[in-house]
Amino acid sequence: MRRLLLLFLLAPALLSAPFDSTATASGRRLAPGQQPPAYDLVLRGGRIVDGTASPWYTADLAIKGDAIVRISPSITEPATRVIDVKGLVVAPGFIDIHTHARRGIFEVPTADNYVRQGVTTLIEGPDGGSPVPLAPFLAKIEATRITPNFATFIGQGSVRSAVMGEVDRPATRDELEKMRALVTQGMAEGGFGLSSGLFYVPGAFTPTEEVIELARVAGRLGGIYISHMRDEARGLTDSVRETIAIGEKGGLPTQITHHKVVGKKYWGGSIETLRMVDEARARGVDATIDQYPYTASATSIGAALLPAWAGEGGRDATLKRLKDPATRAKIKAESVAIIRDERGGGDPKNVSVSACQFDPKLAGQNLAQITQGRGLAVTLENAAETALWIVEQGGCGGIFHAIGEQDLERILVHPATMIASDGEVAVFGRNVPHPRSYGTFARVLGLYVRDKKLLPLETAVQKMSAFPAQRLGLSDRGVLRAGLKADIAVFDASTIRDTATFEKPHSYAEGVSLVIVNGQVAFEGGQMTSARPGRVLRGPAHRPAP
Ligand SMILES: [Zn+2]
Repeated sequence: MRRLLLLFLLAPALLSAPFDSTATASGRRLAPGQQPPAYDLVLRGGRIVDGTASPWYTADLAIKGDAIVRISPSITEPATRVIDVKGLVVAPGFIDIHTHARRGIFEVPTADNYVRQGVTTLIEGPDGGSPVPLAPFLAKIEATRITPNFATFIGQGSVRSAVMGEVDRPATRDELEKMRALVTQGMAEGGFGLSSGLFYVPGAFTPTEEVIELARVAGRLGGIYISHMRDEARGLTDSVRETIAIGEKGGLPTQITHHKVVGKKYWGGSIETLRMVDEARARGVDATIDQYPYTASATSIGAALLPAWAGEGGRDATLKRLKDPATRAKIKAESVAIIRDERGGGDPKNVSVSACQFDPKLAGQNLAQITQGRGLAVTLENAAETALWIVEQGGCGGIFHAIGEQDLERILVHPATMIASDGEVAVFGRNVPHPRSYGTFARVLGLYVRDKKLLPLETAVQKMSAFPAQRLGLSDRGVLRAGLKADIAVFDASTIRDTATFEKPHSYAEGVSLVIVNGQVAFEGGQMTSARPGRVLRGPAHRPAP
């Protein structure tokens, strides 16, 4: 609220910002008596889908500096540049609230795979994992000069690792105090809240009460809680209950991230989980959801196919357990069950390798092929054995086809669901990553809005812009309105589509014609421009270092 007020106070100043009257924004000198253009850029005649889910309308949109300064049926004052966008959708740039963008952002600071979909802000630090502390990392992003805006959460798992290592026990009072201090510091350094990955080590070793204690700290400082839940298969409803309880008891907004139902046996579970979210909201718990539009997930083979307890104490400890025949048999038995009923999708064919450092040739192969390649018959037992072997060799990334389409669609159309990729900044051509990094936003707009007609265009855009902006407290972005930052995506609603597939993921989305970040054109005519206008956005409790 305070920030919103500040915005209103600043807006008139922005609108009347003085400019050098002898030079235009492009630097050209003006002849004496010649008026400088009123605007830097005017988008003429587009369909304004403003992010609020209101029906589109036709208007011109004017930009000066880094801000939208006017939206009106007809803007005739001179502008340095006018782009005709007749028939195209003009939408707020998309805000991706769950990304692993630090994978790749330093190699590809332009983040082409995202910007080409219309994404203008990337949020990092999900799933309980972030740099600790945040300040040097954010300074490095700033120094890198990237194309989209960038922000981050503080990861509960990373905070716990920093204080306690990867041990499977509750924190002591002293350790809890240290973790609280790290969360406070992370918020002061610009974090937007606390993320958790209770499915992963060491999140899996964290009691609910301990998460609540840290969530409360983030909440008091204006942050949110966002969670990759403990279990998205058999324990799904318990996990949703826990996520809601953490928000309720911690006194802060809570979000189920990449909500899905893993394992055929549990498909249909979203009927119950969405009912739980509705019920929580009805009694005043600010619980929301985000989702990517694919029926496969992606994470490391080790995290997905081995039980969490096998990971206690880090890699050396895991290897030691795998060397002990009795413990190995126990791990393998659980892995068989996971392949049969959960992430494995019931068939080793449903697990494929996305990236593999110890043997890059494995990328693109599925677990059945790799099992066969090792001279073993393709059975659940041998596939589990291969999973253990992969972990022993150094591990691989995996893609897991185990999500039902009906659950996906049910979650997608729920009013509390926003869109987020869970992807990374792709290095074009490297490995065989999940296509979500290239396609998430275009896929929702093409497949689910236009082709399947599951939701209106305006609603889908709201789920990609105003909704995540509001969630993060980014009151100056996410909506097309005079005075707000000019982060804009222009696309053709009749042609936008994802082209990245699981077989050929390195393929850019189509249909987006223009992307503007902080008032500067970042993508146009099928090409990334030389502009690097992205900014590091810092959260509600940010205090500049003394
Ligand atoms: Zn996750």
